[in-house]
Amino acid sequence: MKPPQFEYQRALSIEGAVAARAANDNTAILAGGQSLLPTLNFRLGAPDALIDISRIPSFNQIDITDSEIKIGAMVRQRQVELNDEVHQANPLLRETLAHVAHIVVRNRGTVVGSLAHADAAAEMPAVLLGCDGYVEVIGPNGKRSITADEFFRFHLTTALAQDEIITAACFPVLQPGQGWAFGEIARRRGDYAIAGVCVLLDVDGSGLCTNAKLSACGIGSRPLRLQAAEQILIGSRLGEDACKAAGEAALDAVETPDDGQASRAYRAQVLATLVRRNVARAYERAGVPA
Ligand code: FAD
Repeated sequence: MKPPQFEYQRALSIEGAVAARAANDNTAILAGGQSLLPTLNFRLGAPDALIDISRIPSFNQIDITDSEIKIGAMVRQRQVELNDEVHQANPLLRETLAHVAHIVVRNRGTVVGSLAHADAAAEMPAVLLGCDGYVEVIGPNGKRSITADEFFRFHLTTALAQDEIITAACFPVLQPGQGWAFGEIARRRGDYAIAGVCVLLDVDGSGLCTNAKLSACGIGSRPLRLQAAEQILIGSRLGEDACKAAGEAALDAVETPDDGQASRAYRAQVLATLVRRNVARAYERAGVPA
């Protein structure tokens, strides 16, 4: 199908984009177009105007400090994946992005676009949530930050107001003693995940897990934190039993969906397995003393 008619507007500055957004309450931001254009072709949306933000210079920046990686709204997924400084600062991003679609899609699609689209099975929203990251947004009333937990409301639904634009996504820089892992199961390479699990652990010098952040995609109507599993891990040395118990705890706390991709029971089994495997991998990466 062809998209419905829309007006095309190219913004050359953030102020211009905000003004264009404020002038009409039925606009859509056009970033890489990898989700927006299929949505329009399927007539799942009919905005009056698309506001192209690709020529706004500051949106192409990645800024890394000692504590944070700030990814501008037009930074492509593939740019982040290939950036060695980002990889050193937070290796979860490269590991996760390798699971997002295919290289041709990642060449155009942006990290921020993936967060804004908020597909419940998408990988990057789960990582933002699992890292306690946030997005920075701007609108006619000024700037604000929205934590990942607040931002993702439902499948394809976020806390962004209709007149706001996301300017950047912020992920933490990982510190020594932290272990990380992202893994997923999909029907085919590049498909959205049946389930995906992100793990970030703090492990002290004696091998004790002092903090655990686990999140998942594909298992609910939005990315979810697996708090019951986190509680099992905190305060333990993570042997096989603890990893398995975390997988079971994750299952007890969520009702996995049943759809054309996978049955409820299969998805549950995938979730438990991914938690077990990814916790073990993250623990090893934390540099646990022998
Ligand atoms: P666009 O398509 O331009 O925009 C997406 C939505 O976000 C639109 O509603 C748009 O208005 C809004 N938006 C974008 N930027 C902003 C902003 N700065 N402020 C406010 N709103 C904004 N994704 C996965 O996560 N996992 C997959 O396995 C996967 N597989 C895919 C397979 C195929 C064949 C295709 C075509 C896409 C796939 N995707 C997958 C989606 C892909 O990751 C998209 O690139 C991404 O979801 C959207 O990024 P984009 O820059 O293309 O955004």
